[in-house]
Amino acid sequence: IESGRSVAMYSAGEDQVYRRRFSLLNDFGEALESRNQLRLVFQPRIDIASGDCVGAEALLRWNHPTLGAIGPGEFMPIVERSRLAQAATTWVLNTALDQQLAWRHAGLVLQLSINVSALNLLEADFADRVVAGLKRRGLPHHCLELEITESAIMEHPAKAHATLDALAQAGIHLAIDDFGTGYSSLAYLQRMPADVVKIDQSFVRDIEHDQRQQGLVRAMISLSQELGHRVVAEGVENGAALAFLRSAGCDEAQGYLFARPLEVADFGRWHQRQAMQDAAPVLDVDTAL
Ligand code: C2E
Ligand code: MG
Ligand code: MG
Ligand code: MG
Repeated sequence: IESGRSVAMYSAGEDQVYRRRFSLLNDFGEALESRNQLRLVFQPRIDIASGDCVGAEALLRWNHPTLGAIGPGEFMPIVERSRLAQAATTWVLNTALDQQLAWRHAGLVLQLSINVSALNLLEADFADRVVAGLKRRGLPHHCLELEITESAIMEHPAKAHATLDALAQAGIHLAIDDFGTGYSSLAYLQRMPADVVKIDQSFVRDIEHDQRQQGLVRAMISLSQELGHRVVAEGVENGAALAFLRSAGCDEAQGYLFARPLEVADFGRWHQRQAMQDAAPVLDVDTAL
């Protein structure tokens, strides 16, 4: 009886999870049509040597009509595996490129990164549609970077690589996201036409307290640079972590130390202030220690 009851409870819980997923996916379909539930926020990327903001990552936010704010960590894993994967990325791409255009008109020139899902890489015309989006707005191809996780590529390596090669040939920048967390091989890292490797935040968190972790991150940085990639550290939250990354030769940093993902208006203000202060947090790194 005991085990019977726990099985029943377990499947009731599973049923609830399943239902929440199903309704989230349905609701996300409506959100894509709604014009006011979805928006992008932008997190700055900082060149460690100069302290300049050289780019920003666009991150999706959803304000659900009854559930309120839901994070992409909850809904994207569901959307990414569904028939909405293409529409979601199209929405993100168009919104990011419109913003890119508006910023350029206002004199703010930086590279924007968007996150791309495994299924997108299997769309035969994905590269063409990205290029068309840039052309339509008269934007240079190198102003866009696509972030792709190792696991997304490893799901269908041959097809994914065909898409990635087409994008790279068109001059669109590629970044390997969450590097170190998926399972990929060094052979694959060498073959990947990526400009950038983003070291996952799980390696960067608490880096100042962990010598073995420091060794690992140093090795990841030099390996990636040796293969011709620029290295970005994600999740940089304090001056000690930044000091370590600088000593390890890391190229760029992204994290709460500089800014959280910002609303469009806040990003403009942040960028102006940052340019005026000449990157105070980076230059003050030794005193921050
Ligand atoms: P990601 O692409 O690796 O994005 C970085 C995540 O780390 C973001 O979470 C960002 O807010 C968070 N972060 C940045 N700096 C720090 C820091 O210093 N400390 C900590 N603890 N976290 C930091 P977010 O926005 O919740 O996004 C989570 C994930 O959802 C993203 O991971 C990405 O995989 C996915 N995602 C977000 N937007 C999109 C999108 O438009 N399309 C797709 N396909 N996936 C997206
Ligand atoms: Mg990313
Ligand atoms: Mg990441
Ligand atoms: Mg991630």
